[in-house]
Amino acid sequence: MSETLAVDAVAREAARRRTFAIIAHPDAGKTTLTEKLLLKGGAIQLAGAVRAKGNARRTRSDWMKIEQDRGISVATSVMTFERAGVVFNLLDTPGHEDFSEDTYRTLTAVDAAVMVLDAAKGIESQTRKLFEVCRLRDIPIVTFVNKMDREARDPFELIDEIEKTLALDAAPVAWPVGRASEFWGTYDILAKRLMPVDASEDEGIPVSGYDDPKIAELVGEARATALAEEVLLAEAGLKPFDLQAFREGTLTPVFFGSALRDFGVGHLLEGLARFAPPPGAREADPRDVEPEEPRLTGFVFKVQANMDPNHRDRVAFVRLCSGRLTKGMRLRQVRTGKQVPVNAPLFFFAKERQVAEEAWPGDVVGIANHGTLRIGDTLTEGEEVNFKGVPSFAPEILRHVRLEDPMLAKKLRTALDQLAEEGVVQIFRPLDGSPPVVGVVGQLQLDVLQSRLKVEYGVPAGFDATRWQVLRWISGDRAQIERWAATNRGDTAEDHDGEYVALFSSDWRRKRAEEDFPELKFHAVREQH
Ligand code: GDP
Repeated sequence: MSETLAVDAVAREAARRRTFAIIAHPDAGKTTLTEKLLLKGGAIQLAGAVRAKGNARRTRSDWMKIEQDRGISVATSVMTFERAGVVFNLLDTPGHEDFSEDTYRTLTAVDAAVMVLDAAKGIESQTRKLFEVCRLRDIPIVTFVNKMDREARDPFELIDEIEKTLALDAAPVAWPVGRASEFWGTYDILAKRLMPVDASEDEGIPVSGYDDPKIAELVGEARATALAEEVLLAEAGLKPFDLQAFREGTLTPVFFGSALRDFGVGHLLEGLARFAPPPGAREADPRDVEPEEPRLTGFVFKVQANMDPNHRDRVAFVRLCSGRLTKGMRLRQVRTGKQVPVNAPLFFFAKERQVAEEAWPGDVVGIANHGTLRIGDTLTEGEEVNFKGVPSFAPEILRHVRLEDPMLAKKLRTALDQLAEEGVVQIFRPLDGSPPVVGVVGQLQLDVLQSRLKVEYGVPAGFDATRWQVLRWISGDRAQIERWAATNRGDTAEDHDGEYVALFSSDWRRKRAEEDFPELKFHAVREQH
């Protein structure tokens, strides 16, 4: 392919991709919505398989039992489907608050997010947390108010809550017609059409506006009057939809529907196709990368081991940022300069692995490897660029590992190193040579670690408390950092990549250190590179 042809093809393919995640508080309806989206995308064989997939996956290795027992999903997967010429990559994120690092990293790999709210509950704790992560990167958010078939809160009140609690402008693009058991469907504010709940198609019924007399004939007098009054109020008092503000992450279009009854899902998908951005320029060192560049770039945002007990390899999930990936390419791992062969890149159509022929910006592919690829790694066709922004979060639980059999010390070390590369645990080695400290973000992550050590590596282990509660990465002038380390040897450690961290016995101590060492910065988040 000539260079110009390649640029054209990459630009065309990138432009028709929408890579997104769904953020929601548990029970808001994320799973149900995912199923319905896949159905709409023609992925019929997957219908109802989102849950079934969970069961199949859980049999793959014993540690997955934990998520089964707790009824939550720990692993992230990628689902690709196509509709009306648009390729959607839906990156699934685990919703449980205990295990959110994966979620955070997944959100670095998307270009937009759908925020699902339960119409009776509005913004819940986990919605807010996930939203804050999206805000860090100004990810555009589409809101789907779900469960409109049941008792719901007033739409004005919900919109007000989004604006107030998230400090995000909210513009309704649909408006509910009737409520709860009287729910008839929605009125599409932008396209001026009625969308009935029981219509088999998503086309809707065109009307001249919310005051079209035809509406009363269709939905009944009472509902038509209420609709006309409400939309009049909404148009006068609420923000109108503004594409630019949405793309900049300061305004969210609001859709109403019911995932369970498969209502409003087509409208949402249409909205994603029309409004959500295709892959854009990505920040990198020493230069930003544009998606239509002919040479391939991408970064690893997740590593997962033992997805299949028959292959003990690890799979690195790579988000492509430019160029075209084909089978048999050799890519450069920028961190080490190593060549990584990509003989069988994997697409993840729910549970089945499929060998992809090619992939484009916005797509996510799995690359099997023996542990070479790490979270945060940039892959290129040779250029020395590094994507920024795949974060590590300061662990909230710090423990010493207690071995039941001291003969297994070496095995434990290998296991911990591998699990650290996969992002399951973080390892910190104190400078004074005392035993290493493992750090996790939540209790569930600790359970997963314990289970995997035993099941996969044959190393039964327990955990003991440490004298530390708080961990921070240190940055600043090298000499100052060394001075810090010399005076606080017992409370300074190196992370997996040799970066210094400070360990504190309390948050009060951390604050004291910040006052005593104003020239140093103590970070709760570290961006990997
Ligand atoms: P998740 O935890 O966010 O993945 O939520 P689920 O998709 O598992 O849904 C939680 C519960 O809400 C399930 O019992 C669903 O059947 C129910 N649910 C989901 N969407 C709707 C909806 O639109 N209407 C009603 N009435 N129930 C729903």
